[in-house]
Amino acid sequence: MTASHNWPPIDPADGWALILTELQRDLERIDPDLVMGQVKQKFGTLSVSAEASDPALADAVHGRIAAAEALSARICERCGQPGRIRQRPDGWYQALCNRHALEAASEMEGES
Ligand SMILES: [Zn+2]
Repeated sequence: MTASHNWPPIDPADGWALILTELQRDLERIDPDLVMGQVKQKFGTLSVSAEASDPALADAVHGRIAAAEALSARICERCGQPGRIRQRPDGWYQALCNRHALEAASEMEGES
C-alpha cells in the first residue's frame, strides 16, 4: 500500500499531467504516508490539499505543493505549453496558452 492509492487518476492528456506526476513522485518521497485530499482547479491554478502524516514534514509537503500550484499558473491546462491565467467572459479562470485561449473564446461563442 503506497500513498499513490490516495491520488486521483492522472489523465495523461491533461496539460498538467507532468506537474501532477512530478508532484506525486516528490510527495511520496517526502512523506510516504501522506494523506491526500482533493486535487482540483481553483482560480485557474492547480489546488492540492494534503495532510502530512507527521507535523515535522508539513512544511516540506506544503512547500512542494505550493511550488506545483505556482507552476500550474504558467502552464496551459490543455496542452502543457507555456501559458498564463486568463479570465473567460463567463468569469471562469483558466491557465491557457495563446492557441487554447483562442479556442476557449470560440467555444464560448458557440455555446451562446
Ligand atoms: Zn494550450
